[in-house]
Order: sequence, then C-alpha cells, then structure tokens
Amino acid sequence: MNQKKETLTTAFGAPVADDQNSITAGADGPALLQDVKLLEKLAHFNRERIPERVVHAKGAGAHGYFIVTNDLSRYTRAAFLSEVGKRTDTFVRFSTVGGGRDSADTERDPRGFAVKFYTEEGNYDLVGNNTPVFFIRDAMKFPDFIHSQKKNPATNCKDPDMFWDFLSLTPESVHQVTILFSDRGVPFSYRHMNGYGSHTFKWYNEAGEFVWVKYHIKTDQGNRTLSETEAVKLRGEDPDHATRDLYRAIEKGEFPSWTVYVQVIPPGAAMDYKWNIFDVTKVVPHSDFPLQELGKLVLNRNPENYFAEVEQAAFNPGSLVPGIAASPDKLLQGRLFGYHDAHLHRLGPNYHQIPINQSRNSPETNYQRDSYMQQGGGSGPNYWPNTMGGPAPAGPGVEEAGFDVSGHAARHPFVPADDYKQAGDLFRKVMDEPRREALVSNIVGHLKGALGRLQLRSSVMFFKADEEYGRRVAEGLGLNVARIEELAAMSHEELVKATS
Ligand code: NDP
Repeated sequence: MNQKKETLTTAFGAPVADDQNSITAGADGPALLQDVKLLEKLAHFNRERIPERVVHAKGAGAHGYFIVTNDLSRYTRAAFLSEVGKRTDTFVRFSTVGGGRDSADTERDPRGFAVKFYTEEGNYDLVGNNTPVFFIRDAMKFPDFIHSQKKNPATNCKDPDMFWDFLSLTPESVHQVTILFSDRGVPFSYRHMNGYGSHTFKWYNEAGEFVWVKYHIKTDQGNRTLSETEAVKLRGEDPDHATRDLYRAIEKGEFPSWTVYVQVIPPGAAMDYKWNIFDVTKVVPHSDFPLQELGKLVLNRNPENYFAEVEQAAFNPGSLVPGIAASPDKLLQGRLFGYHDAHLHRLGPNYHQIPINQSRNSPETNYQRDSYMQQGGGSGPNYWPNTMGGPAPAGPGVEEAGFDVSGHAARHPFVPADDYKQAGDLFRKVMDEPRREALVSNIVGHLKGALGRLQLRSSVMFFKADEEYGRRVAEGLGLNVARIEELAAMSHEELVKATS
C-alpha cells in the first residue's frame, strides 16, 4: 500500500468517495449488497490473521548489517565471509518461544535469535537461540516437548505438572533447564542477550576441506537480566517491553550490536573428543576450542510495517549458502524439514517471494513455477535440461564435498557421555553465590506448583547435576533430602517407577 497516496482507494485502486457511510435503502433502511466497497472492507478484515507460529509466535525484528572483522575464509568458501570489511544486509527476528502472538515479552523462556543474511550467493539463515544448548537432542521428541511446555489441552492453562513431568523424564534437559531458571532465563531486552547457533555446523572451503563450527553472538550492550519479581511486574505493566525497547533504541539511533565468534573444531579432533559435538544439549568448552572473532552484527533500521516484515519473516535452518552445511546433529536434521514446512503452511508455497524473505542479492532463477501468490515466475523454459537459454546448474564446485557414512539403520538411542556434568559445572564453576541463590529460588517458585512426586523426580535430576544444587532445591520445596539421595542412587528406570 502506498502511504503517500492522498486519495483513499479500494484494494483495486479506485477512489472511495465516502468511507464512513454504507449504502442503505433510505436513511434507515437495510444495507445493499451492491455496496462492494463495504463488502471488500469487511471481507478483508475477516482475513487479517494468518496462522500464528506454533513456537516463537511473539517476536520483534530489525534490519541491519553484518561486517567481517576477522578473515576465516581459509575454513569456508562462503562469499559473504571472504574478506575483512565485507558487509552483508541482514534482518534479525528475536522472539520468545512458548507463548502466543500477544504473550508477554518478559516470560521465563528461551529467546529466539534468528539472523537472515542476504548474501550474493542466496539467503543464509542462522536460526539460533539465546542459549548455547537445547532441552532435547532428537527431533522425534520436539512436538512432545513443546506440548508439555504449552497449555493443558483440557484447561487451556499452562500446567506445571506437564512441564516438570516431561523434563524430569528427559534428563538431557537439565543443562538447558539450569540456564532457563538462572538469571539469564529472563533477559532485560533483546539487545542485552547473546545469541548462539546452538548446533554444530559444517564449514567447507574451495579445496573441499571442512571443519565443524559453533556460532556465538555476544551482545556489545552487556548481558542484562530481570529478576523474577521485576519480570512478573513488567508482564502486567508492559507486556511488549522488549519489542518496545528494541524499536525505541533504533529510533533514537542507539544501534545495538553483537560481536560474532566461532569455535572451529577440526574433524579429527571431534572424533575422540570427550563430548559429542552433535549433541545440542552440550556445549563445547571454550578452554578446548577458543572463540575466534568473525564479525560484527549491527541493527540500524526499524521495520516500517510489523506484519509485512516481522510476522511474515520466515527463517529456515536449511537456507544455506555454498561454504556452510548442516551437521549430523539429530535435532538440526529435523529442523531442516520443520521450518520450511511450517512456512509453507503459514505463508504459502511462495513465501520466499514475500519481500522480507526474497533473496534480494541473488535473484531466484529456477524452474519452480506457479502456485498461490505467484509474483512472476519467468517466461522462459520451465524444464531442465533445456537448450533454450534457461538457468543451468553451477556444477559441483558450490556443493559440499561428499562424505562417508556407514552404519546400521535403526532408531539409535543417544548414548551420552554424561547428561549431568555440564549443568553441574554451570552451577559450581560459572555461577557465583547470588546467581545460585536466584537459580534455586526460581526453580522452587515454579516447581512447587507441580505434584509432589514430580518435585521429587525433578530434584533428583538437579541432585545428579550437583548434590548441593539438588539439596537446595529439595529444601526449598520442603522435601525430605534423604529420600532424594535414595532416589538418586537408582537407575533412571527405577526412579521413574518410584515416582509414577
Ligand atoms: P567458560 O568458563 O569458558 O565460559 C562460561 C560461559 O558461561 C560464558 O560463555 C558465559 O557467557 C556463560 N554464562 C555465564 N553465566 C551464565 C548463565 N547464568 N547462564 C548461561 N550461561 C552463562 O565455559 P565452558 O565452555 O568451560 O563451559 C562451562 C559451562 O558454562 C558449561 O557447562 C555451560 O553450562 C556454560 N556455558 C558455556 C558456554 C560455551 O559456549 N562454552 C556458553 C554458555 C554457557 P558470557 O561470556 O556471554 O558471559
């Protein structure tokens, strides 16, 4: 819609004489079906909403750029990372995860941190979160996990029993649960939090050599968080707090920025490493693979229309460019399907033609045609191969080198080194005493709403991460600590039986 147009028009551009009074048979008579302007207006209003995202429904976004500050092109042939000073347009969408489209920004929830790079080799989407790990590591568990965190199907209320039942039956979640209930669980704003690619990805260079990488996007504004009391208050006073904060900062010219780092893990080093680098519930310690600076991400332009640019923004971990590929991480593998499929449902088969999603620096040239909302589609041949001058494949140079895979095809359970140690390390080594206190108090405040047997099972999970951690949660809940110790000595199966 052209905002500058002075005359009000219909959707088809015809001038509207009067937009206040419908056509009626006489001053007090019924409305006439021939008032097509009224019909158009009412019908369009009925269709204003599109399906909200099942997850990450509430979000805010802004335009900006990414600039390379350190040359890591020996590891990747990605053109947008080829030299220091190279600048690429970006669009970033931040979000909460569990709530609906109008939920409060200050919920205790992970935050989505999705970056679209409009590169000259197509759009690259880095669809991350503000936490380096995730609750589960196999996409098969994803719908169940989300169901357990959302509303009870009978009451339509959030349900602490569902929340803690699933998580305590899924001990690999303890690391992410510890981050979620720590001070970092409610960032002050989207500007004051880090982003992480979370999964391990593959980078490959022109020689066909590859490394594994993990992305860390660290806020230049400093990490700033809200206490539980502050967060609860803001949920009532200003549910759009983080959305407003981002918009206002950019409007005032206070452009938020982040320094982007990667951990580079040579394939040989990953083989016998103590952690499975494809297990997204674990971090790869900085002490083993230090952060290497890559660039700067700056947000400097607000959207002009929220719906067009933020609601319709569609990010897809499968939107990759030459030089960057997926890893065998089982959650990432599921996401490669899930996001594209979600957008096909939510926005339609030509969602990539919506301006915010268009590959503006590498126009789409292929033989995909037609379907709803087609904006062009090309007039040339619509088949390949052809000798009519249609677009031709670039050849193997842009593809990742082939790799060997072998094994017995089956539903293999993950065999982790240890699901508890990193959560324990976070409690023991990274947090200071006030942070530990806040963590325990935040967990107790939430877990006390769940059934007693779920309080026991969850406390055992924290106890296994760190005995003091589990003991303090149990004490806060008024549980018998000796019983927690007894349950912690059991196998997971015995524990589940004893707390079912
Ligand atoms: P390091 O000692 O090298 O770094 C600790 C990391 O913890 C820093 O990246 C810091 O982020 C982050 N951190 C500090 N407080 C919190 C919190 N309340 N919640 C989440 N993250 C926090 O760590 P290691 O690599 O040896 O890992 C030790 C533990 O630190 C891990 O088990 C993990 O729980 C946690 N951690 C590790 C990260 C990593 O990428 N290695 C990232 C985040 C957490 P910052 O520098 O931004 O302040």
